[in-house]
Amino acid sequence: MADGLLPARAPLIDAFGRQVSYLRLSVTDRCDLRCTYCMAEHMQFLPKKDLLTLDELEQVASAFIARGVRKIRITGGEPLVRKDILALFERLGKQLGHGLDELTLTTNGTLLSQYAGHLKRCGIERVNVSLDSLDPEAFQAITRRGDLHKVLDGVDAALEAGLKVKINTVALKHDNADSIPDMIEWAHSKGMEMTLIEVMPLGDTGEDRIDQYIPLPMIRDQLETRWTLSDLSDQRVNAGPSRYVRISETGGKLGFITPLTNNFCAGCNRVRVTCTGRIYMCLGQDDHVDLRAALRDSAMPEVALNEALDKALFRKPEKHDFAIKRRGDRPALPRHMSVTGG
Ligand code: SAM
Ligand code: SF4
Repeated sequence: MADGLLPARAPLIDAFGRQVSYLRLSVTDRCDLRCTYCMAEHMQFLPKKDLLTLDELEQVASAFIARGVRKIRITGGEPLVRKDILALFERLGKQLGHGLDELTLTTNGTLLSQYAGHLKRCGIERVNVSLDSLDPEAFQAITRRGDLHKVLDGVDAALEAGLKVKINTVALKHDNADSIPDMIEWAHSKGMEMTLIEVMPLGDTGEDRIDQYIPLPMIRDQLETRWTLSDLSDQRVNAGPSRYVRISETGGKLGFITPLTNNFCAGCNRVRVTCTGRIYMCLGQDDHVDLRAALRDSAMPEVALNEALDKALFRKPEKHDFAIKRRGDRPALPRHMSVTGG
């Protein structure tokens, strides 16, 4: 018995023996940007009543923590556009050191200069900022509306607040492939890690994925004509889908997330919960279980929630099967990354 009152909860172990210790929790499908690889220009957002309330988000997060989840990443859509979001960080921050080891977020950075200090005070140590270009015009084209300077100010505010910042960059064949070395130099000169991501076929964005997609091994080859890249083999560093290198000349770390050219599903330790409470056991598959129904329709929500988690874990698939297709072909998966939570 935990605490002498509640029965100890079984850890979340799937049919392949993998233990889930990492939750990505989406708090909204809305965003102030419309990145061309993520959303359509005219997105239909969900009615607010469909979203998990703050209490429900906390209940879900707490159920995962009770079952062995040690790290939670808050995501979206853009998590910082949700009005009551700081209250969620405050509440979950109190669970740090009590089952939860790390609370973090992925953000586009546009609102970071406003929130960085508060996030740090909630116990957040690290943030991932998604940024695909340092050129104001290219940034505006990729995001279909963004102001680069707000993001750069946000990054500086986060660093000043004492947060560790990692820059996530989706490699795009025409929009940024040539300027990736400059971005790496910029990130490393500020002491930030950077991770490159291959564009994934999630949702119809009105753009041709084949026009966007560039395999990361190609980028790595280009980087190696200029710098010395040494693979970091440390297992802890390489937990999750990123594979890291150190660049001798910049001294910084660079990650590669290559769901298309190489997948690392065998060691997958994560699940995703959408802002409507659906748990997706794999980013690249459509199977899901409805946790909101368990919370809202049951007389014993805690029991129903744990039963739903058991059902979900049992169905976690072995791996994804992404493939890049032309515009007009159905995307591999109909749901957008902004709905699942990246
Ligand atoms: N709005 C926040 C942000 O941009 O960081 C959080 C949500 S966003 C969906 C999370 C991450 O997913 C971002 O790093 C974004 O670049 C990435 N992403 C979105 N759509 C993607 C796609 N189709 N393929 C690869 N990465 C994608
Ligand atoms: Fe918004 Fe993030 Fe998707 Fe860009 S990647 S549209 S910032 S949710």
